[in-house]
Amino acid sequence: MAQKVRVRFAPSPTGPLHIGGVRTALFNYLFAKKHQGDFILRIEDTDQGRFVDGAEDYIVDSLRWLQIPFDEGPGTESAYGPYRQSERKHLYVEFANQLIDEGKAYYAFDTSEELNSHRKDHEAKGKTFIYNWHNREKLNNSLSLTSEETQKRIASGEPYVIRFKSPKDEELHLNDIIRGNITIDTNTLDDKVLFKSDGMPTYHLANIVDDHLMDISHVIRGEEWLPSLALHQMLYDAFGWKAPLFAHLPLIMKPVGKGKLSKRDGEKLGFPVFPLEWKPKSGEAFSGYREEGYLPEAVVNMLALLGWNPGTEQEIFSLNEL
Ligand code: GLU
Repeated sequence: MAQKVRVRFAPSPTGPLHIGGVRTALFNYLFAKKHQGDFILRIEDTDQGRFVDGAEDYIVDSLRWLQIPFDEGPGTESAYGPYRQSERKHLYVEFANQLIDEGKAYYAFDTSEELNSHRKDHEAKGKTFIYNWHNREKLNNSLSLTSEETQKRIASGEPYVIRFKSPKDEELHLNDIIRGNITIDTNTLDDKVLFKSDGMPTYHLANIVDDHLMDISHVIRGEEWLPSLALHQMLYDAFGWKAPLFAHLPLIMKPVGKGKLSKRDGEKLGFPVFPLEWKPKSGEAFSGYREEGYLPEAVVNMLALLGWNPGTEQEIFSLNEL
């Protein structure tokens, strides 16, 4: 039997939801509904340093206002949600330990001073410092120590991270529904951190563990995550899990210059880049489409039709038609 379509929108609550994020949510929702699938909202809040109070409510309220309902997630009646990664830490610990036990990840004790000095030494020789098998053994990490020594250092309170051991001399074959086939030489990849010294998982580990546990069939997300695909594929391979299909969407760009559309561009052009107004206790406030008097249908149509045309004269579509 074909796998049920299950997609997710996985924002990090680091501020108000930008319309670029709304567009990603909308594409996921439409894809799920077209295939009688599920659309999940997962709050990726493992980066404690960037957590912004009120951002999760803002995301949920924005999707409600735009009438983009999710089947599982914070505030739903579903038996599975709410999905907040900060509440699922035990799972990430378990899977990181599994990789350590299988020799696919390792503890590393390098301080930032040490890492900077390695970087400088390499630069002085005109080389780029890549933290992988090239110099993994020479660095101050636990690979060169016995496991007893490693455990002693951990017990003594020395800060450490857990890094993924990226394979040596392999060709990685990736596929993106939009970009097609991509081949990567694993020697160009570094051993990414899976667990940080604050005891929290990084985005990469939590993201792929959750996509696996939540039976996600298609990952539809912004193109800025395409460079992470190699690591994600390597993690799926390391766990022996089947990876979902990936589609990295082109971003909404600045009208002039390079990069993605920012708050400032909206102000200059006279339209909001946020669905709802944002009034943080401290920091800058921004107006939203709702407060400016736009209808949610108008915002949905604008976002759905950006960059393409269905080839008919029809200008306004209901969510069902979309
Ligand atoms: N938390 C990531 C973000 O804020 C999610 C990326 C993904 O969908 O994998 O964009």
